[in-house]
Amino acid sequence: MRSTVATGSDNYGKLQVVYRHVDAGPAPPATSEATSRVMRRTRRVGTAPELALRRALHRRGLRYLVDVAPPGTNRRRRVDVLLRGARIALFVDGCFWHSCPEHGQLPKANREWWRVKLHGVVVRDKDTNVQLAAAGWLVVRVWEHDDPDEAADRVAALVASRLVRPPQA
Ligand SMILES: [Zn+2]
Repeated sequence: MRSTVATGSDNYGKLQVVYRHVDAGPAPPATSEATSRVMRRTRRVGTAPELALRRALHRRGLRYLVDVAPPGTNRRRRVDVLLRGARIALFVDGCFWHSCPEHGQLPKANREWWRVKLHGVVVRDKDTNVQLAAAGWLVVRVWEHDDPDEAADRVAALVASRLVRPPQA
């Protein structure tokens, strides 16, 4: 079993997370059509919900980079949508992989392997949040089941609030 440890702290230095990557081992063969469909759908970039959200952001005049790691952060932790000016790192989390409380569920077959695998994703997400916050990024996570227009409205409001300049003395 391989494991690596990374540490980080949030903006305020209050929170420290020790991240240990636990390798669940090689993927077991998909035993059901449903599982293999889920596994096939696992493309890192440009899932349908992400594309819908990107279009909604674009309609609101927001411009962004896609699938990049901000300078000075772990290059293997790529952000789905990066709004550079406002320093917002936006993720569109898939309900299955990121264990959505409404739709996430463990496949019945190879249950233990999936439990380790999916728990690892959640822990890694938390660590990514901490690392990005430490580098001055506001992390926003949207579920793939979220309405893209509502999510885009929320992001647009955050962008506006973060782009406001303090009054000059
Ligand atoms: Zn969901």
